[in-house]
Amino acid sequence: MSHPIIHLSAIQKSYYMGKQAIPVLKGITLDIHKNEYVALMGPSGSGKSTLMNILGCLDSPTAGKYVLNGQDVSKMDDDSLADVRNKEIGFVFQQFNLLPRLTAAENVALPLVYAGLAKKTRHEMALAVLEKVGLAERSHHKPNELSGGQCQRVAIARALVNNPSLILADEPTGNLDTKTSIEIMDIFGKIQSAGNTVVLVTHEEDIANHAHRIVRLRDGLIETDRRNEHPAKSALHGVENIYENG
Ligand code: ADP
Ligand code: MG
Repeated sequence: MSHPIIHLSAIQKSYYMGKQAIPVLKGITLDIHKNEYVALMGPSGSGKSTLMNILGCLDSPTAGKYVLNGQDVSKMDDDSLADVRNKEIGFVFQQFNLLPRLTAAENVALPLVYAGLAKKTRHEMALAVLEKVGLAERSHHKPNELSGGQCQRVAIARALVNNPSLILADEPTGNLDTKTSIEIMDIFGKIQSAGNTVVLVTHEEDIANHAHRIVRLRDGLIETDRRNEHPAKSALHGVENIYENG
């Protein structure tokens, strides 16, 4: 098998309250390969977001080794980490994290500013990805003119726009109703089918059941790691439909 996209070895993370270290991740060892679709579950406070932030190069582990796409990122300085993050990672958050003054297309194009592309190219690329998530006609709308589900699709488009090797999503459906959550899961399913690697945090079994592998954390350790032999298919008929009806 090819080398994993994610290789975690004995990852520990402590937060410091003054001088006191509070251990949150207590030794996480985990490999994730290209094109895997993994749901990360576990009780509130079990360390899911802490682990996602490390996977997404938003934070560094206190101890242990993280090799991302063949690069040891566990000991990188903040600048190098930011560089890896911008090239390799697309991150989707529960709160969408869109900039309110920018249009959908401008939000999606943001990561391309960092890549140094010309404005016209950025706009064209943003429109192409917005089309993939079914929001081409909303490209000039600002976040407050869009529904929650549409905002999350903009955020997903932003995560995809520079073609990262890894898509991470921390409770992406946490603020959405059931029907909209299913639409969003359809989009992640489509992204994974297109060859991407997806790691997604959720505390809802129905949502996790869309993934092909379910990893459960408890108290900063992996409790179980199992294949999902029968991942949920869309409750809607045909992923393309939701893109059209947006
Ligand atoms: P989950 O996402 O599974 O709910 P988190 O990773 O957010 O869990 O948090 C795990 C534990 O770490 C919690 O006890 C939380 O209070 C603590 N924690 C998270 N982030 C910080 C931080 N920046 N500083 C201090 N403690 C934190
Ligand atoms: Mg969390």
